[in-house]
Amino acid sequence: MKYCRFQVNGEAQYGLVESVAGRDSIGRILLTAPEESDGDVEGLRTRRIEAIALDEAKLLAPVRPTKIVCVGRNYREHAAELGSEVPTEPLLFFKPNSALLAPGGVVKRPKISERVDFEGELCVVVGRKCHLLADGEDVRPYILGYTCLNDVTMRDIQRKEDQWARAKGFDTSCPVGPVVADGLDLDPWAGVGVETRVNGAVRQSGNTKDFIFPLDVVIRFISQAMTLLPGDLIATGTPAGVGPVVAGDVMEISVEGVGVLRNSVVDE
Ligand code: ZN
Repeated sequence: MKYCRFQVNGEAQYGLVESVAGRDSIGRILLTAPEESDGDVEGLRTRRIEAIALDEAKLLAPVRPTKIVCVGRNYREHAAELGSEVPTEPLLFFKPNSALLAPGGVVKRPKISERVDFEGELCVVVGRKCHLLADGEDVRPYILGYTCLNDVTMRDIQRKEDQWARAKGFDTSCPVGPVVADGLDLDPWAGVGVETRVNGAVRQSGNTKDFIFPLDVVIRFISQAMTLLPGDLIATGTPAGVGPVVAGDVMEISVEGVGVLRNSVVDE
């Protein structure tokens, strides 16, 4: 099952995405926001609406997280291309909620940077409150689903600062969406393709089976330090092939089983 968040009649609603006449469409809205529920989307009340084609809907970031936790260097080849060590335990950082950008939104390259890079990633959406998971505890009950995330980065600023708050946290640096797909549509442990295209050319082509730290290790690790809440996002790291974008470029992050997150670039 897939759902999205979208603007209709001036209001933000959560919509269920269904196939109508072979086209992904929003046919029902959820009457309870997923992040207010206990993750049991199937059990949510819905209301039928006149179907809106997904590619014609005014999509918003699919959730409103309390935090966006990111994993750095979770693919060996990406660590190597940046000349970085492979970490011995998950390397975590945050992106602020003010960085969130809707599908189709415009990434603004800040004036303070000369090199802004795309980073295509699989993103976990937390479905249930999650804290202090035990060793070996199953993390799947805490996962609502998966989406695409572009961890847009000011690479020159990242290189000169130990903390990545500026490099990874500027406004518009966190496009997310277009939909959240539940774990029936994809299984990151078995392997999910993550691809980035810039102006149609493939720049990153990875698979989550190559994670250094699989999702269960990452989620248990995070939960030892902080409580994950419904709607929180976990960006799982980017495969090799990162590179810069300039004004006029169009970035597309596709995650197998989710869809394509498309954002263009302008100079601030
Ligand atoms: Zn990243």
